[in-house]
Parts: sequence; C-alpha cells; structure tokens
Amino acid sequence: MPAPVEKNDFIRQIVRDDLASGKHAAPRTRFPPEPNGYLHIGHAKAICLDFGIAQEFAGSCNLRFDDTNPAREDPEYVAAIQDDVHWLGFEWHDLRHASDYFEVFYLAAEKLIRQGDAFVCDLTAEQVREYRGSLTEPGRNSPYRDRSVDENLDLFRRMRAGEFADGARTLRARIDMASGNMNLRDPALYRIKHVSHQNTGDAWPIYPMYDFAHSLSDAAEGITHSLCTLEFEDHRPLYDWCVDKVDLAHSPELLVSLTAKGMPFEASKPRQIEFSRLNINYTVMSKRKLMTLVNEGLVNGWDDPRMPSLQGIRRRGYTPSSLRLFADRVGISKQNSLTDFSILENCLREDLDAHASRRMAVLDPIKLVLTNLPDVHEETLRFANHPKDETLGARDIPFSRELWIEREDFAEVPPKGWKRLVSGGDVRLRGAGIVRCDEVIKDAAGDIVELRGTLDPESRPGMAGADRKVKGTIHWVSAKHAIKAEVRLYDRLFDVPDPDDEADGKTYRDHLNPNSCTVAQGYVEPAAALAQPEQCFQFERLGYFVADRRDHRVDAPVFNRSVTLRDTWATKA
Ligand code: ATP
Ligand code: MG
Repeated sequence: MPAPVEKNDFIRQIVRDDLASGKHAAPRTRFPPEPNGYLHIGHAKAICLDFGIAQEFAGSCNLRFDDTNPAREDPEYVAAIQDDVHWLGFEWHDLRHASDYFEVFYLAAEKLIRQGDAFVCDLTAEQVREYRGSLTEPGRNSPYRDRSVDENLDLFRRMRAGEFADGARTLRARIDMASGNMNLRDPALYRIKHVSHQNTGDAWPIYPMYDFAHSLSDAAEGITHSLCTLEFEDHRPLYDWCVDKVDLAHSPELLVSLTAKGMPFEASKPRQIEFSRLNINYTVMSKRKLMTLVNEGLVNGWDDPRMPSLQGIRRRGYTPSSLRLFADRVGISKQNSLTDFSILENCLREDLDAHASRRMAVLDPIKLVLTNLPDVHEETLRFANHPKDETLGARDIPFSRELWIEREDFAEVPPKGWKRLVSGGDVRLRGAGIVRCDEVIKDAAGDIVELRGTLDPESRPGMAGADRKVKGTIHWVSAKHAIKAEVRLYDRLFDVPDPDDEADGKTYRDHLNPNSCTVAQGYVEPAAALAQPEQCFQFERLGYFVADRRDHRVDAPVFNRSVTLRDTWATKA
C-alpha cells in the first residue's frame, strides 16, 4: 500500500497552525447531526472531516445529537446514526445531546437577560417578520425591546414554567435591528413549544433555537474547530456573539449542571469554519427529499440499495474504505461544486478490485453440454481468489459435463469482432479448457435451449495445449453444483444528471430511472453461496456484488450488484 498522502486542505492547515502556535494542544471536533432522518453520503464527507481531523492530529471528536426540534426527531434515527458512524470506521470520544445542556442554555439565557442582551418579545411570528426589514431596509425595534431586566426575568421564568401558549412569546437576543446581517436582527433564542422530547420528556415547554444551542454546545464541550457547511457562514457572527456574551469559561454557575452529570468542561473558545457541501449528480441529497422517496413508496425504505443514505449505499455494497477514499478524493474547500457520480463509483471499483475475492456466477443461463465427457464426470478445479493478491487464498470449483454459461456469450450470427462462442467456434472456459460448439438445440418456437460442444482434452489445465490461443474466455458454473441465486441488478436511481432541476414543472420524482432495479434468477458457484451477509465479490466479467445484508442466506443466496466493472454512463450523459 502506498503511504497515505498528507491532506492539505485549508481546514487542516488552520489546525496545523493552531497546534504550531500553541493555541491548542489538540483539536476537539464534533459531528452534530439532527436526528430527524438517516444520514446520507454528504454527511459521510462531514464525518470523515470531523473524525478524520481528530485522528490525524491526536485530538478527539464527539458525536452530538442536535436534538432541539423534538417534533421532528426520533430515537430510530439516533440509533441508525450511531450505527453509520461506527460502520464508517470512527469512534466518538463522547456521545452527547444538545438536550444534555438544556439547563446550561436556560441559565445562559438568564445571564443574557441580566446583562441586557436578551428580552422577552410578545410579537407574533408574523409581526416579527414585518419588523425584521429586508436586505435593503433596516428592521424596526420590537416595542418590547426595552423591558426591564426584572420584567424579562419574570416573563422568561413563566415561559419556562409553561404559563404561555405555543408561539405567544419568544426570548430574543438584543443585538442590532439595523445590522446588514439579518441573523443579527434580534434573533430568537427560545421559543415556546409544548411538545414532549425524546430525552427530557415534558420537562421543558420552551426549546432553544439552533444558533444559540449549537454555539453553546460547542463551547460546553471545549470544541476547538467547529466545522460546518457554507450555509452557516452568515450565522458565524451570531455564533460568536452567543459564545462571547455567555462566556461559559467565566461563568462557573452555568456549568454546575454539566459537572453534576459527570461532563467535564474544558474551556476553549470554539472557532466556526465553513466548507462546501458535497453535491453529486444523478442523485438528490437532502433528508427531506429522501424522506419523500421513502414515504411515497418510490423506493423500498431507507436502506433501499439505490438510496444515497448511508444505510442504502451500505446495503448496495459500498465499503467504508471506499467512502473514506471518496471523501479524500473530493477534498475540502470553500467552492461549491458538483461531483460526478462516477467518482464515487470509481472509489468502490478501486477498493474492490484490490480487495474483493473473485467468483463465477451466471445471470442469464443457457446450458452447455460437453458431449465428450462421460455423464458422471466430476472434478474439482482449484482457483485463486484474486489474480494479484495471494493472501486472499484459493477455492475449489466443481466442474462437470453440464455447465451454465451466459446466454449473451453465444451468438448464432456473431457481429464483427465477436470473441465469444459461435457455432463451430472455439472459446476458452475460464480455467477449464477450450470448448468447440458443435450443435445448437432449439425448441419448437425456435429459441435456443441448449448448446452442445466438445472439450479439447489437450487444452485442459496442465496439458501441453493449455496455452493454445483462442480469441475469448467465458465464465461458467457446473450445472450440477451451481446454487440458484437471486441477483438484484441496481443502477442509478435517477436517469438525469440534475434530478433537482425543476424546469418544465418537473421534480425529482419525475426523473426516476425505470431501470434502476432489475432482478435476475441466476446460478453461482458453491463458494459464492457460502458468503457472509455483506461480503463483497467480483463476479468475473459481470461486476462487483455483495451478499445482501438483509435477505441473503446460504441456502437462498441474494446478491446486489454494487457497481459494474466499467462506467456505462459516461457516454450517456
Ligand atoms: P440535509 O440538509 O441534507 O437535510 P442537514 O444539514 O440538515 O442535512 P444535519 O443533521 O444538520 O443535516 O447535518 C449534520 C452535519 O452534516 C452538519 O454539520 C452539516 O453541515 C453536515 N452536512 C450535511 N449535509 C452535508 C453535505 N451534503 N456535505 C457535507 N456536509 C454535510
Ligand atoms: Mg440541518
């Protein structure tokens, strides 16, 4: 293996500089998903960055659930997200929830009120919008902006006690209604929502807003580099405002609830750094759209192998190392761009070409009878599992008089340049010898039902004629020993590069590839059937396949095609 290349993106450069200058002893990062859906490949990019930096610079990375929207969140997602992070090969330092800090947030809000930095506002949501102004016009101050500290504290405590209806009041930061940055125009810090929370039950009728909760969670965990996607760039001034005004490091009274829960506080002023999101063509990548595909039955659940969810691509046969390779290859920058789907597929091909054992399978079988072998002929051939990697070992493959070969490896009327089997022609049976096709048997309808041929005894393995040149080599399985298998041939879920393009009034739902899943009933060699779920193979000449992690059984094998051997889309685009 070549030594890993040192990654030199701008974020790693910042981390290096901060370590060199002594600003930080080690980086602390976090991956902060909202548990409102399953993770997708875009999240894998963020995970590889957050956890990757912690690994590379001997730091640590927390997994933190940003669970401040109880109405949309579910423990099912919490479990799946943990599973996904582990599967990608990462281990978190601490597992946290924003809800672990609800008490800290509350005390921080009271601190802001006492400092004159926050006020309780009675404007309705609609009035708040009117007062906010626009990009070209400053906003107007809320009539409640100058309430006394005592009145604010009293009202905020009553919000917390559940006295007011949903939406009746908000707690707002007191910043600047004329700011050019809309996020600084007295943004809401707390809203009233009488909703049960998966972790805190009915303890809280008020919930903190994203910017307040996120910045303070980072500060509470001593995060040094808070990495997020570019859409949060405009939120950074508010992030910094919250961190500075609350100043956790100098407010031990806010930290008692953390210490009480055994969560040590390590002071550090977190720095938010933004990078561009991953976008890939031929797919959609927002939890909301993926949710729609599932809810409308356009795919078979979150782990449908065509889904760009991590559960989906995992079931499709993508390996953790192929995704880490992909994350390295797309890199980290501030430029928004569209990544070609084939880059993702090539990462899987590279990984599996190097590491997957080879097997033989026939997906569209036609029988080939070797008439010069006795009926009872049976032998065992020894095949290396990998052409280049001996450490992957070898396996036995049974060989007998009747074989299954691929229907498309025979042509009655061969096109120009045909290298496979024709009537009267020779072809090599991979690892077994050279066969000549003597006879084509058809049924009453004229369809070919069987081929008969002669195996050249001089061409058998170890014989003098074993190296005789013939144009083509085809794969096969012994009919008597082959195991029936269901093989699901997946392809891209969308058949246009930009399924999100809404021109002509279409939506991504109208661009589903009708051929994204076809099912073949084929035959595999016995060693393939013995696969463990999630074991990956190259089926020779056909592509890379994985034993389905849900449905595969040794006595009823099910394989998913993960990716074809070569890119078949390049010419279509
Ligand atoms: P979506 O917009 O797809 O629904 P999200 O951004 O709402 O996703 P979160 O749970 O908030 O999902 O994301 C957790 C982390 O993953 C955030 O730091 C976010 O910036 C990052 N992330 C989400 N999507 C991408 C992406 N496409 N590329 C890179 N990072 C992403
Ligand atoms: Mg989000």
